[in-house]
Amino acid sequence: MLTITRALHDAIVDHARADHPDEACGVVAGPAGTGRPERFIPMLNAARSPTFYEFDSGDLLKLYREMDDRDEEPVIVYHSHTATEAYPSRTDVSYASEPGAHYVLVSTAESGSEEGPVQFRSFRIVDGEITEEDVQVVEGDG
Ligand SMILES: [Zn+2]
Repeated sequence: MLTITRALHDAIVDHARADHPDEACGVVAGPAGTGRPERFIPMLNAARSPTFYEFDSGDLLKLYREMDDRDEEPVIVYHSHTATEAYPSRTDVSYASEPGAHYVLVSTAESGSEEGPVQFRSFRIVDGEITEEDVQVVEGDG
């Protein structure tokens, strides 16, 4: 199960809406070993594509160094789908390299960049196998 604060949940959804119709992507880091998502880090989709996302390799390297310095780990790796449901694509699975992370998918297919319903789902992706998990949104501004 993924437990996430309302504030972080909304920050991810807002990012997905802002970048629609391109896919948005980012990370929520947390203190190593806690599994607690705390620090929201929106990333640039280097592919700037409506069907694909890719972290800029320089940005990613910088982020991993920074997390290392702060003793953090990537707790959530998120991205949006803008025309399809919030479910990992084959490409997403082949790029999923963090077996300990929650892979969050947001779909803005229904409402686009406007306020409205979005799908927000979380998955574990380990050895190419997708397992959906429950998402619990708790109140709080963490
Ligand atoms: Zn995807």
